[in-house]
Order: sequence, then structure tokens, then C-alpha cells
Amino acid sequence: MAGLRQTIIRGGLESLYFSGAHAALRPLVGGVGVILTLHHVRPPRPDRFQPNRLLEITPRFLTRVIELLRRSDLDLVGLDEMHRRMIAGDFARRFVCLTFDDGYRDTLSHAYPILKAAGVPFAVYVATSFPDRLGELWWLALEAVIAKNDHIGLVIDGRNQTFPCSSVAEKRALYDELYWWLRRRPTEAETRDIVRNLAACYQVDIAAFCQDQCMDWQEIAQLAADPLVTIGAHTVNHPMLAKLPADAARAEMDLSRSVIEAALTVRPQHLAYPFGDPTSTGRREFTIAAELGFKTAVTTRPGVLFASHRKRLTALPRISLNGEYQQLRYVRVLLSGSATAMWNGFRRSAA
Ligand SMILES: [Zn+2]
Repeated sequence: MAGLRQTIIRGGLESLYFSGAHAALRPLVGGVGVILTLHHVRPPRPDRFQPNRLLEITPRFLTRVIELLRRSDLDLVGLDEMHRRMIAGDFARRFVCLTFDDGYRDTLSHAYPILKAAGVPFAVYVATSFPDRLGELWWLALEAVIAKNDHIGLVIDGRNQTFPCSSVAEKRALYDELYWWLRRRPTEAETRDIVRNLAACYQVDIAAFCQDQCMDWQEIAQLAADPLVTIGAHTVNHPMLAKLPADAARAEMDLSRSVIEAALTVRPQHLAYPFGDPTSTGRREFTIAAELGFKTAVTTRPGVLFASHRKRLTALPRISLNGEYQQLRYVRVLLSGSATAMWNGFRRSAA
């Protein structure tokens, strides 16, 4: 299914590009600016089973995207400047913000040198349990369990079930099925319990992913010292906020800001909701983020920014630079707003 979905999306991006429709539509759907979402930036790996590859692009592709943005008529701005323009209605020029989620070490080692050399501002949204080494990157634990086993046993709906996953195709299909099944669990605690049990059964160390892949506080401080960099909050434990009681969701957002402030002596003014799609973030979270005084908060709902988003600054859409679509022509289409307008049925972003 994932393969089919990618084929359809790629086909849509290709036809918007080669028909010229993206350029024709841009004045109508391009809005005032774009916030880009990135996760990992690192060299490609040869493994055939990489279900999380959508979350990574190569340093070479990032370099080419920056060159494209530099040549375009878009201003590359930080989140504070984006916020200022939104409030002031200063839309003389379209703008783009680069945002990196989670606080991976390759943001420092691979993305930062490229952005520093080009003088490009960017933001990093840090989930504080990751540098505190208490975080659970459970989607990576699931990947590791499936990668190193030929079949997986799991209790689903009270029944012990066995899933074969010896071939790459089976691994991909099983990852997709289990990932979305886990995302649909009614509570965050249930999702975590299942993955913890799975990891324990199949000798995968969940804590190791934090250690191996995420920056520690010293590395984050190194980034934060650069005026090009904005450190934003991304909750403490990276939960699906909508599945928590309201007070717990509020505490996740508020506490992460205080922890970052204590570590870096700078109080974050901007927030990214973990996962950020409608199943994990909604109106309740948008209200809480506004009540907590965040200047802006971003979702992962796809879309460009319109002037009207000034009234919904804690529910901003973004556009992901997806590792499955590392072609500059796709980036051109995405920046034009035409692809997301089409996906959103030409409604102005649902976020
Ligand atoms: Zn995240």
C-alpha cells in the first residue's frame, strides 16, 4: 500500500510540474510563505528495508534545495521573522522557514555546516526526553524488531498472532500495518507498552536510539549559540497529544519549554506538535499552545501559509521535504502550493 501511495503522489507531483500547472496555480494557491519540515539529513544507506526513509534526505539534496531557494524570489527567514511578518501583514515577498524536528545529531553534523555556510536561519524543535536520554523513539524500535526477525508474535485483540517478515516486501508491509495499528491505539500508554514488550521480547534496546541518534544538551547548546538557530519546544516525551488528558497535554508542552530554558537559558517561543497530524493534534492542543503563550506552533498538516493564518498562529501547516521524493522539481511544485492545494481539495489548509 505504501508503494502505491508513493506512486500516486509522485505521479501527481510529476504532472503538476510537467504540465506547468504548478506555475499557473501559484498566484492562486501559493500563499505568503512556506514552513518546511525536515528530520534527518545524512548520507544514504544501502539497506533495502528503510520504512522511515521518508524522514531523511541526503546532505547533497539539502545543498541543492538551498541553492534553489537562494535563486528563487523567496526570503529565507527564521521563525521570529516569520511571526513578525504574519502579525504585521508584511507580505511584500514570499518567505520560507526551515524547521528540523526532534533534535537529531545529524542536524548538527550534516545540516548545520550546509546552512551555516549559506547563512540560512533554521529552527530545531527538541523533545526534551531525547537529550535527557529518557526518550522512546518507538517507531525506530519497531523498525529494528522487524529488520532482524523472520516472524513476529504479537497479541492483537486478545489473540496471539504471528506475522511473517522474512522478505523485504513482507517487512515493509508488516511495518506499515503495525505502525498504523500502534498509532491508532486509544491511549499513548498502550502504544508505548506494546512497543516496550515487543522490544524486550526481541532484544531491541529502545533507549539506545536516543543515545545513538539524538543530540545531547551540549550539542544542542552549540547550535543554540548561533544566531541563525532557533530552538523550539517539541514536548517532553513526544506523545500523540490528542490521546492524553488535557492537563497532561498541557504539561507536556509547558514543561518542555521550561526544561529547554533551564538547559539553554533561552525560553522557546515556538512549538511543534509531535506527529502533528489530525489524529494526534487538534483544536484542544491549538488552544492550549496559545494559552501557554507560544508565538507559533506548527503541525504536519500539509499546506502553505496564507495571510489568514495570523488568526491561527498555533495551528500552522508545513510542507515536508520527504526522503522518498528527492527531486528539485518536486520541491518547486511543493513551494508553489499547488500540490498541497490539490491534496486539500483546494480548501485553504485544513490546519
Ligand atoms: Zn517529532
